[in-house]
Amino acid sequence: MQIQRALQYARCAAVLDSDPDVPSEGTYDQALTNGLAAIVAHEWPGEEANAKGRMHAANTLLDVIEQHAVAQPDGSRLIPWVRFDGSPAGTRVDVAALRHGVTETQGVRHARGTGTLERAHVDALVALDDHPALRRIGEVTSDGQWVNAKIADSYEQQRAEEYLIFIGDEEADERAERAPDRLEPYHPRHNPDRNGTELGYCPVCHREAFKLDTPDEEYGMSIGACLVCSYTRSPQVSYYLTLTAEMEATFPTD
Ligand SMILES: [Zn+2]
Repeated sequence: MQIQRALQYARCAAVLDSDPDVPSEGTYDQALTNGLAAIVAHEWPGEEANAKGRMHAANTLLDVIEQHAVAQPDGSRLIPWVRFDGSPAGTRVDVAALRHGVTETQGVRHARGTGTLERAHVDALVALDDHPALRRIGEVTSDGQWVNAKIADSYEQQRAEEYLIFIGDEEADERAERAPDRLEPYHPRHNPDRNGTELGYCPVCHREAFKLDTPDEEYGMSIGACLVCSYTRSPQVSYYLTLTAEMEATFPTD
């Protein structure tokens, strides 16, 4: 669980760090919630979740940190920890900037880009990586192509979403109904690999209208394009998204 949280935090933070304007709804909140939950679970076990075991929201996790960590003159909080050599160290948590970042990124649904997220919000998020429970941004960004693929996919999803709004619900439903007619037929000689013979789920328009160029693999991240909203998943994006899903599925949880 802690590894999953740290990786989730690192992936989202790495994407925002290289492009704070990336139109990925909820990325900031997802990064922050997972990062804070990992830190709180490490420092004050049990306080990261409610009685039912559900992880707290970012603002509640920030309350926990404000309560327990050492208040600094500038209003931030310091979480002390000890280096391997025994010398004292600490992670500064800029609570105000983080709370502001959450507020700024909420309610931007369907707006063009986030626009409101500033460098200071991202910097405060990335600074958390210094804590011993996290420290995975380096690992994630060592594959710069992964970050680029993720960013490209976010912009592509936004483009398709705007197109979906443009065509409207009625047209979208009609297209979804006609989608099965537009599949390629399987043929032992002309199409032995069953390319284009299947529809998958589209994460943008939420319809079973994603025409898979290649038969879907286990993780539902295959190359293809949606017959309703036009969302297209390139080979590169497909490769990296599948890799991430695979890693998530094989990582041991505790
Ligand atoms: Zn779609």
